[in-house]
Amino acid sequence: MKTTKSAELYAKAQQHLVGGVNSPVRAFKSVGGSPIFIEKGLGSKIYDVDGNEYIDFVQAYGPMILGHRAPAVESALEETLKVGYAFGATTELEIQLAEIVCDAFPHMDKVRFVNSGTEAVFSALRLARAYTGKDKIIKFSGCYHGHADSLLVAAGSGVATFSLPDSKGVPADAVKNTIIAEYNNLESVKALVEAFPNDIAAMIIEPIAGNMGVVLPEPAFIEGIQKLARENNILIIVDEVMTGFRSKFGGAQDLIGLKADITTFGKIIGGGFPVGAYGARDEIMQKVSPLGDMYQAGTLSGNPMSMSAGLATLKELKKQNPYAQFEKNAAFLEETFYQAAKKHGVDIQVNRFGSMLTPFFTAEKVTNFKTAQQADTQKFKTFFWAMMEKGVFLPPSQFESWFLSSAMTQEDLQKVATAIDYALQQVANS
Ligand SMILES: *Cc1c(COP(=O)(O)O)cnc(C)c1O
Repeated sequence: MKTTKSAELYAKAQQHLVGGVNSPVRAFKSVGGSPIFIEKGLGSKIYDVDGNEYIDFVQAYGPMILGHRAPAVESALEETLKVGYAFGATTELEIQLAEIVCDAFPHMDKVRFVNSGTEAVFSALRLARAYTGKDKIIKFSGCYHGHADSLLVAAGSGVATFSLPDSKGVPADAVKNTIIAEYNNLESVKALVEAFPNDIAAMIIEPIAGNMGVVLPEPAFIEGIQKLARENNILIIVDEVMTGFRSKFGGAQDLIGLKADITTFGKIIGGGFPVGAYGARDEIMQKVSPLGDMYQAGTLSGNPMSMSAGLATLKELKKQNPYAQFEKNAAFLEETFYQAAKKHGVDIQVNRFGSMLTPFFTAEKVTNFKTAQQADTQKFKTFFWAMMEKGVFLPPSQFESWFLSSAMTQEDLQKVATAIDYALQQVANS
């Protein structure tokens, strides 16, 4: 694998870009070595500046569900480019995207577009607080909801009540109203609700956790938190930034039977352009300015490029309806993993849901942040570089989801299967 040009660019990038990147995971810190620099993408593949070709499971961390440069999206963008791309006044594209999103989420009447998932989530928290008049938010350890101060909170061990900031620069005051429960642990939520009976505005949750690697919620847990929320006037914010339109045309919330009060979006609904959104039933959205007294604004919110990329992506998803195929392809990869792992004597747990999948290098079932963290990151590192060598680009961390795109062919999957067998052999030999 030739990486001369990438290495040159990486050296150069570090002069004026922090660590050579604009988002930390891109620096490959957890897998070592130097990151590859991308020249172009097309369909299921990306190409680096040294001419290496990779089947892409990063998909820009989710948005590129149709693969790169999907013709329908590209032509929509070309049309929009010709008429202008920022006005500071509403365009019809915003109405159309709002309609398609609200139609796909039965409990949602209105939506507000913003520019990132982070912005969507912190606005949703503000809304939950404005609506309930309460301040505390329950967050689950291992779930990621963007980099707003109040959500950068360490995965508190078990039922930590007050948690410490996860990043320097976050004042303790900013997280004092964020209380931490454990994913799939109903008792940990109960304990918080009992400890703060009148103070909890909302709980925020990834319906399928993807940011500690893929972790599925247990049905009894979902049922339990829903009941607790209803009984205690706590809103449920379902963070579908990653999962929205990923496993069905609509939300993962429907698939797991969780009814959201507020839903947050990002990634896919922008088709690769900056976007976020939050939405809820009328009664809650009435609180948002200009209808109500909760302020939230944005210069480029709902900009035509993001709206048209998102709209074209959703229309194409509806047309392709790739969800059954995702399930088949992910099942094939899971099976491949278990067979190769058995053959080479490597411990592995594959968690998957729809087009999301994570192989954890551990013998224990992964059901929450604690069990995820038992995975062997050294093994993942060996695995990652062996996959790169075989032309498969993965998120450079054990604790991320792989994303399937509808552009992946059966030939791609066969190639990935061969790569998995090779990479697990390398892991066994390491
Ligand atoms: C990616 C992600 C975010 C943050 O979105 P950005 O657009 O990166 O700000 C929030 N929540 C979840 C569940 C995510 O996966």
